[in-house]
Amino acid sequence: MAFTSETVEALVEQFTKLPTVGRKTAQRLAAFVLKMPREEVVELARALVNVKDKVRHCSVCGNVTDEVLCGICTHSRRDARTICVVEEPNDVMAFERTGEYGGVYHVLGGAISPLEGIGPDDLRVRELVARVSGALVLPEEARARVPAAGDDGTMPPAREVILAMNPNVEGDTTAHYLTLLLKPFGAQITRLARGLPIGGDLEYADEATLARALEGRMKV
Ligand SMILES: [Zn+2]
Repeated sequence: MAFTSETVEALVEQFTKLPTVGRKTAQRLAAFVLKMPREEVVELARALVNVKDKVRHCSVCGNVTDEVLCGICTHSRRDARTICVVEEPNDVMAFERTGEYGGVYHVLGGAISPLEGIGPDDLRVRELVARVSGALVLPEEARARVPAAGDDGTMPPAREVILAMNPNVEGDTTAHYLTLLLKPFGAQITRLARGLPIGGDLEYADEATLARALEGRMKV
């Protein structure tokens, strides 16, 4: 059954593009928008566009931020030499929810997937190598805000790199690739302990399971 308005149908069509939203839910959402006060609809539309126009990637870790650097990279008490490598910004939130991690992150922006044609060059791998090896130099306007940065903007090399990819084929492929790539730089490389649901997504793991996987991480 379709709405008798092409305009409403166009909105339904847009909603079905969102993850986990089927046609029925999309229709329910469209019906809800129809009833919303105009100002609220404008606010919603503006929030959507702002996400594309204003959000950028932290120039150190690649996490989403409205500034040059994110709040984790500029935090005075985070250990800048322990880097947890994740696929997406949502994974950072998952680790932050555990409250057990005091290091920093590196967001790759996905995982290596030959099937989907995603290779290392499509991810923030080069940036990771620069960080781990100590070759990263911060942009001038950001230097004063990162406690670990030297006066010339150089960051110290990593002491530990935690590979925290999703427990699926793409995640394993990515972790294996990064292990070989990063080994020569001398940092300790670790992976999350098993026990996370295989084939699942880190961001859906409960805090206790994720905290345990982090605590039990193993050298590779
Ligand atoms: Zn950052």
